Amino acid sequence: MKSIADIRKDFPILHTQVNGKALVYLDNAATSQKPIQVIDALSNYYKTLNSNIHRSAHSLAAQATEAYEATRDIVQTFINAKYREEINFVRGTTEAINLVAYSWGRTNIQEGDEIIISALEHHSNLVPWQILAKEQKAKLLIIPINEKGELDQHMYQKQLSSKTKLVAVNHTSNSLGTINPIKEMIQQAHLFGAKVLIDGAQACPHGPVDVQDLDADFFCFSGHKTYAPTGIGVLYGKRELMEQMPPFHYGGEMIKEVDYDMVTFNDLPYKFEAGTPNIADTIALGTALNYMKEIGYETIKTQENALLQYATEKMSGIDELRIIGNAAQKAPVISFLLGTAHPYDVGVLLDKMGIAIRTGHHCCQPLMKSLGIQGTCRASFAFYNTLEEVDVLVEGLLRTKKML
Ligand code: PLP
Repeated sequence: MKSIADIRKDFPILHTQVNGKALVYLDNAATSQKPIQVIDALSNYYKTLNSNIHRSAHSLAAQATEAYEATRDIVQTFINAKYREEINFVRGTTEAINLVAYSWGRTNIQEGDEIIISALEHHSNLVPWQILAKEQKAKLLIIPINEKGELDQHMYQKQLSSKTKLVAVNHTSNSLGTINPIKEMIQQAHLFGAKVLIDGAQACPHGPVDVQDLDADFFCFSGHKTYAPTGIGVLYGKRELMEQMPPFHYGGEMIKEVDYDMVTFNDLPYKFEAGTPNIADTIALGTALNYMKEIGYETIKTQENALLQYATEKMSGIDELRIIGNAAQKAPVISFLLGTAHPYDVGVLLDKMGIAIRTGHHCCQPLMKSLGIQGTCRASFAFYNTLEEVDVLVEGLLRTKKML
């Protein structure tokens, strides 16, 4: 088992300086850093394998195809999908949700139908449904939160009805860190015949997810938050649903036969992968997920829980610091306000000390509005962070407090 010190050696960026100070990277919920194995996978692809996949007779293309398709198997195992063709490569969570809204949504949501989302959704899991609801004359219902930042399950049960066609909720909130009881929520939605999409963007960085056990109809995540490059993500959809859905994009690769007046579409998953895909980043996504497996999911969980607990305790001890979101089940994400200071000012001052946190509305403007705030500061941790870095953050916050 690798120690955290050894794990950190795999991440070149963690050994750099920002503003003359050792980088303390606490913006992992926005994007995670990449281990050298992933960086090497990218450059090795371009050095040794680069060619277009699926349709060529030459050896290089066959090898690139094999490497690309190997990631599909790795993802299938990571989320325990029943069939490999249920794994579709997309640009990220945003594109995955848009695909479902465009393809499944426009064929299945009719006037008078209801779509339920939650108050904790990222704009990516809000705007596509808002637009769809307007277009189709459907209704968008929002599950409210309690004072801890947990979804109000009682209200959710009251909102569900035979009119509900879709429930679209996140597994884990990016802004408050709340982990939602999605298995139970999926079961309840299914009792009314509704389909469920789970935004797994903030869940997958912390370990594998079992889509069969959850019985999710759609599940998606972004590679760049799971130690892989930007521009690659995954949409899982149950095979029987994806088979019935019309394509999202039209063009090469997604067709079987074309003439001037007709077209038949390819089988899954290629029906949803039009054009030349993001080959290099897909291969590197496989490397990243393998890297997480090698580190060990237990190691990841133990370290991240320790960081969350330690940081919560230490930060709670800072006078005038208010943690926003105290759910019983939380990812290693701490949203907070420091007195009456504007989050942006806190972020800028911490940056001068080499500490990277996120500030703002975290793509959750309606949530911030309902909390009566403009935004928060957010420190989010990954398994490569250390308790010493939490100390640096706390020290930085104490210094910031004096400066503001
Ligand atoms: N959903 C959640 C919960 C997120 O945290 C994010 C990104 O922060 C997204 C969706 C959008 O992901 P992407 O920008 O990778 O498409």
